[in-house]
Amino acid sequence: MLALAGKTALVTGAGRGIGRGIAERLAADGALVAVHYARNDAAARETVGAIRESGGRCFALRAELGVPGDVEELYGALDAGLAEQGAGRGLDIIVNNAAVSSSARIGSVEADTFDRIMAVNAKSPLLVIQEGLNRLRDGGRIVNVSSAVSRRALPETLVYAMSKAAVDTLTLTLAKELGARGITVNAVAPGFVATDMNARRRSTPQGEKALAALSVFNRIGRPADVADVVAFLVSDDARWITGQYVDVSGGSML
Ligand code: NAP
Repeated sequence: MLALAGKTALVTGAGRGIGRGIAERLAADGALVAVHYARNDAAARETVGAIRESGGRCFALRAELGVPGDVEELYGALDAGLAEQGAGRGLDIIVNNAAVSSSARIGSVEADTFDRIMAVNAKSPLLVIQEGLNRLRDGGRIVNVSSAVSRRALPETLVYAMSKAAVDTLTLTLAKELGARGITVNAVAPGFVATDMNARRRSTPQGEKALAALSVFNRIGRPADVADVVAFLVSDDARWITGQYVDVSGGSML
């Protein structure tokens, strides 16, 4: 029997990149996966097509996060998608993966950018969980995608790193509160992973080499490197792990 058979998972930002990798892996493990995205319909369609082709169950739902009414839109679309699949409103797994990056050192940080990054990366995971708790079954799993930069000093990612530090504290604090319901809350912290988020930095052979050299394995991460760890954390095997920050950076900047 597959590890996640009979489970329902919501993965935010699953149309592309790491989120797509997580959605594919959870579906391969037997979960019905809600593939959330914001704007890129084509990418989400492709992800849904790939999962279904491999025999997985999933559906796409669209909602821009970090704007007023976002959570209502997300859960409205989730409920509609679940009903179409003949599934109930209940959830077993929430993966907060959607985020935006920014690069600016202290001298050039703008207040509007700060507000936007915090709204998408820190506030929306909180609100997604808040509403999700009305649907998450006891014994459920929450995984928040943080970043290695919340525990390394990279001055050019100041605001992004601050937003991920908020995610780390959300994880730790909620793990305590939700333990009574048997719900685990953990964070995974990738280093550089080859996705659209850092395509510009990888666009030259020198850039690619420099990013690869940050890992002791001398390569850039792949979405599956992160997805495989998320799959473990949401499985029954990880029932005794909660409130943890799991570094999934290939030993970056050790
Ligand atoms: P990505 O390739 O840029 O994909 C981002 C995903 O999030 C897309 O599905 C996008 O939807 C969605 N998204 C972005 N802004 C959104 C918004 N305002 N509302 C709703 N959805 C939104 O990103 P990634 O590199 O896979 O990153 C995934 C996670 O890993 C993020 O939390 C990121 O901070 C973290 N991370 C990434 C790296 C890395 O090197 N890539 C390293 C450390 C941590 P659309 O497709 O519709 O645009």
